[in-house]
Amino acid sequence: MEPDGDQIDALLRLRGVRVTQARRSVFELLSGSALPLSAARIDEMLGNAGRSIDLVTIYRTLETLERCGLITRADRFNEGWRYMVISREHHHMIVCSECGSASPLDVCDLNRIEQSLERTTGFTNIRHSLQFYGICAGCRR
Ligand SMILES: [Zn+2]
Ligand SMILES: [Zn+2]
Repeated sequence: MEPDGDQIDALLRLRGVRVTQARRSVFELLSGSALPLSAARIDEMLGNAGRSIDLVTIYRTLETLERCGLITRADRFNEGWRYMVISREHHHMIVCSECGSASPLDVCDLNRIEQSLERTTGFTNIRHSLQFYGICAGCRR
């Protein structure tokens, strides 16, 4: 479920970020997008929605949101880094390296590896990030 405006404001405040129109708009856009988005794409989408923000502010906003752990860099494409919201549900993405389409996967089998790493390395709170790349069915044709 996508967070509404109030939830987004609350999320930002929870991370110690002052709520601004730019931060709210950018985060809202990323929350509602199934695909990772680049700054250029965000610029374009906000423009289409009549909520233009200048590109420099978009870059700065992305930096802020990334620093406070709300979004992350998903991958790098022609137009640069693409960002996505860090979701609380854990899932990995499979990304087409031709067209950039991304789909979430609902399998993650790495808990066992994390548990054995806890035993062998003494680390606790082990997390992981993992992304798969390939050629999607549409591009293969
Ligand atoms: Zn593709
Ligand atoms: Zn996983």
